Amino acid sequence: MAEVDAKPEAQLGRVVANAIDFLSQALKEFEGAPKYSVIHFYSALELFVKARLLAEHWTLVVSKRQEPDRDKFLKGDFISVTLDEANDRLTRVLQSGLSPIELQQFRAVGQHRNRMVHFFHEAAGGKPSKELLGAIAKEQVTAWYLLHKILKDRWGKEFKKWTKDLDALNVQMKKHRAYLEVIYTHAKPDLKKIVDAGEKLFKCASCDFPAYLVTYRDHEYSEGDCKVCDLRETAFDTKCPKCGSAVRYVDDGWTTCEGCGKDLGPQELDATLDWGSVSVDKDSLMPAHCTFCDGHQSVNDYHDTTICLNCFRRYEEGVHQCDWCGSSYMGKPIEDSYWFGCPGCSGKAGDLGDE
Ligand SMILES: [Zn+2]
Ligand SMILES: [Zn+2]
Ligand SMILES: [Zn+2]
Ligand SMILES: [Zn+2]
Repeated sequence: MAEVDAKPEAQLGRVVANAIDFLSQALKEFEGAPKYSVIHFYSALELFVKARLLAEHWTLVVSKRQEPDRDKFLKGDFISVTLDEANDRLTRVLQSGLSPIELQQFRAVGQHRNRMVHFFHEAAGGKPSKELLGAIAKEQVTAWYLLHKILKDRWGKEFKKWTKDLDALNVQMKKHRAYLEVIYTHAKPDLKKIVDAGEKLFKCASCDFPAYLVTYRDHEYSEGDCKVCDLRETAFDTKCPKCGSAVRYVDDGWTTCEGCGKDLGPQELDATLDWGSVSVDKDSLMPAHCTFCDGHQSVNDYHDTTICLNCFRRYEEGVHQCDWCGSSYMGKPIEDSYWFGCPGCSGKAGDLGDE
């Protein structure tokens, strides 16, 4: 390794370059060697997620099964975090984790990769079938759609330097959509049934096919999925507080207004939503913290829904109160919150530590 580069910070550029390289490799191999395409695609995805951790601090990339050691890290002699570990740190340390939908989609790509590595022989000889290519394309198109959005918005600052490369990959990826035609053809009879039943299908934001069905709606909030590429979205449709343009927040409470370019967050979303005319109940335990994204008082009742404006997690289970600070939170009850605290406090243990 060249000595000038012997700094953990210099690693970031290399990791991102590798991620980009793996992704373009995956696209090149797609038709001729789909097995390697799946493997390289997942490597790229993991590298992008790790790069975000690396942009913060190199120790975050080292698995918790190991003590971080700078020299070993620079030599590449270390166990790196898994996708789930990485997401855990993104959520807890950076408060910039993956949404439930993103995590699920990325995990699916990883599971597919494992199956390919261990059991896949089909594509080894002969031409891969259209169906197989369609299935792989579907997974890659959807995962890339989500990842590209994260890299441009949520982690936009950290990946700004690579905007051109990412946009070029996005253009490449669009060619993949042609392979989804076979899935669209198969889905047509079902799509017809949906339309015949009086439902409306929208153009999917990821694959462009008119196959996106809204499955749940509550005022400005909706959930839906695409019958072709399986993209699932949770979204609030509202207005920009600055210029009044229509704005769609997808999967989390951050977006950019296409009308005026203003960066919008959960506070702007909160301020522009139609909360209805429900009088404020003094005994209400809302707003509550979100244990999924560690959001501070980010969960509120919205018409018939109880939802976190950071991560759009919809809660159906009850609200709990922290035994130490008394504030309310949603999610599974925290064991010994008196000692360990909640998303809003660090508990008795934290207070003792401050003294
Ligand atoms: Zn789609
Ligand atoms: Zn605007
Ligand atoms: Zn949340
Ligand atoms: Zn608390």
